[in-house]
Amino acid sequence: MTNHSLNYKSALKVQEGIEKPSSVNPNFVRQRTMKKELSVEEYVDGIVAGNRVILSQAITLIESSLTSHFEMAQKIITKCIPIAGKSIRIGITGVPGVGKSTFIEAFGKTLTSQGHKIAVLAIDPSSERSKGSILGDKTRMEELAIDHNAFIRPSPSAGSLGGVARKTRESIILCEAAGFDRIIVETVGVGQSETSVHSMVDFFLLLMLSGAGDELQGIKRGIMEMADTLVINKADGDNIQKANLAKAQYTSALHLFPPSASKWSPQALTCSSYTKAGIDDIVNTIDQYVALTKENGFFENNRMEQAKYTLHESINNSMLELFHSDSTVLSKINTFEKEVVEGKKSPYVVGNELIELFLNNLKNK
Ligand code: GDP
Repeated sequence: MTNHSLNYKSALKVQEGIEKPSSVNPNFVRQRTMKKELSVEEYVDGIVAGNRVILSQAITLIESSLTSHFEMAQKIITKCIPIAGKSIRIGITGVPGVGKSTFIEAFGKTLTSQGHKIAVLAIDPSSERSKGSILGDKTRMEELAIDHNAFIRPSPSAGSLGGVARKTRESIILCEAAGFDRIIVETVGVGQSETSVHSMVDFFLLLMLSGAGDELQGIKRGIMEMADTLVINKADGDNIQKANLAKAQYTSALHLFPPSASKWSPQALTCSSYTKAGIDDIVNTIDQYVALTKENGFFENNRMEQAKYTLHESINNSMLELFHSDSTVLSKINTFEKEVVEGKKSPYVVGNELIELFLNNLKNK
């Protein structure tokens, strides 16, 4: 294509003889510059004052891959930590289509009507925002989205689970510093993300559907064991009877699980996000759980264990990243893999050799 034809097709061709304006809008430029220049203190003050725009911008810094943003975000988080931690963190999981976002809307509206301020965050490492990841679709949670006591943040875009989990954990801190006293963390019930969410919340709720006789299938046992409450969703219309039957089956299944450290007996409940039946029961159940675990010390203890877990997880992730981005490791790994695959060397020997090379490379840096 010639330059001529390009110019011809462009809607933005420059008219000869028309002088270029010196600036589009000086005030606009100033506003943009001001936004960029917020100091750590200004971010923290804005967050503590409950300024949602500043809270959102700070979360964007957390999600950014730029080193300068990362450093800024860490300074903001450090200042927010002492005033954070006062919320009840609720994890919600369930397979796609179980009704998570509809439930969060109904549940969230009940909480805000009781005077709570809720923040909804998400963990969805599997999909990109543009492909309709959880909470990515703007038509979801329409009522909650315009409730001034609710703050909804889509999942950080695709990345490693460790990375996405870190961003959500750090966002929790900022939301708490901003005065949100109920934090809901949503995740899809597939893969590893439930374990990750479980390690950052106080209460874990598993949403389920009643099926025709296959109630105990489809959801991995490990996830059921993590749940503090199972909720059979869509208990409305023709489905009420089936939901009640499922509730009875789950209730007996839950009795078979070993007693948990929290001394809480997990429950099976039913609800409908359409009719709102059962939503109040769920809110009360969470209140009872919190009262019991604060009384017996599990609540605080669990938070401390979670902090320790996060520290170790972060060390593991950082070490792995360091190792796998090392130039010597990168240059040797294919050869070493080949030797192992062809049965020439033991994977253990090769693994140790690679670690030795990595450590030597570090020493020489
Ligand atoms: P998610 O993928 O888990 O977030 O599920 P959604 O909230 O998007 O809901 C999936 C489908 O189930 C939608 O068509 C909802 O309208 C429907 N749904 C959600 N909650 C209920 C409910 O309480 N009762 C009934 N009958 N349908 C529901």
